[in-house]
Amino acid sequence: MTQDFETDFENRIVSASFTPADAAEEVGEELSLRPQSLSDYVGQEKIKENLRVFIQAAKLRGEALDHILLYGPPGLGKTTLSHIIANEMGVGIKITSGPAIEKPGDLAAILSSLSAGDVLFIDEIHRLSRAIEEILYPAMEDFALDIMMGQGPAARSIRIPLERFTLIGATTRAGSLSAPLRDRFGMLMRLELYTNEELASIVSRSAGILGIPIEPTGALEIASRSRGTPRIANRLLKRVRDFAMVKGDGVVTDAIAKMALERLEVDHLGLDQVDRKLLTAIIRNFSGGPVGLETLSATIGEEAVTIEDVYEPYLMQIGFLSRTPRGRCVTPHAYRHLGISVPTESAQLRMEGFEEDGN
Ligand code: ADP
Repeated sequence: MTQDFETDFENRIVSASFTPADAAEEVGEELSLRPQSLSDYVGQEKIKENLRVFIQAAKLRGEALDHILLYGPPGLGKTTLSHIIANEMGVGIKITSGPAIEKPGDLAAILSSLSAGDVLFIDEIHRLSRAIEEILYPAMEDFALDIMMGQGPAARSIRIPLERFTLIGATTRAGSLSAPLRDRFGMLMRLELYTNEELASIVSRSAGILGIPIEPTGALEIASRSRGTPRIANRLLKRVRDFAMVKGDGVVTDAIAKMALERLEVDHLGLDQVDRKLLTAIIRNFSGGPVGLETLSATIGEEAVTIEDVYEPYLMQIGFLSRTPRGRCVTPHAYRHLGISVPTESAQLRMEGFEEDGN
């Protein structure tokens, strides 16, 4: 049974995560697709408006920007936004990630190498170990490193001053951050999934940069299958371009986009085989739910955190899945999308054990 579900999740075309293929393209195309200024950054209007004010105020005062925590599903533009913030502030940026910082000394070395005003971007900041987090507290608050020298009664702590810097933390799960770390951020900003119109404008912008002729309806077709995520939109655009060149005259039209995406098994809502299997598993194995996250994870052979961070946000956004205190439930919309008949209300209540005996 589980065998069925052993799909390579990271290689799916609609994966929102940064894949090896993205890394290969990062060097050239992908890098140039990243907007460089706030005015080129599509969508996230509230965040942009606030950032403009904070950046201008920090510049007027001649100070570093306050620490910022960016959170939201992968591929929504957290890394891109951090580069833009550094650009707009006119300062340097150093980039690292929670899992990459193994020892307290690694973080101390990065912190002491920062120049005044620099941005330190820590991706997946929820994955920092406790010992490393503790180095960050005085660094964020007092711009200092507290280093312990020696052990036992002779141990003493030495305080080394740091330049004033801006920490930008990115996480897919603000809830997993420890409270003391979360409290030390001056700004918490939640990135939202993009609308189809915003994604269409990202697709048209990227097509312009890559020199791909595209019709507005073609851009909208790609956008509507991109799960609200710019990284997926850019990836689908590149694959559709291949079909347009080989099967058409190079122009990404509505028809070419539809044909290509059908070949790639991405349906009109952006769901691929994995999403369909996930929903089908809940319907077939758990009568539509509720099913606990851990049980679901064991059934489809995927880590609970990946299900939570990568698959669920979009499935919930389109109303196919709901989270209840007792577990995940598939909604009637999902049944209809999959062509499975929706159980009647009484059958559903019976399945959930609500119907009283003898009634
Ligand atoms: P995250 O750090 O949240 O995983 P990234 O910043 O790496 O996401 O964004 C993924 C890709 O999507 C970037 O390479 C960029 O080209 C594109 N992108 C993200 N947000 C936007 C945006 N608001 N406007 C235009 N392109 C965007």
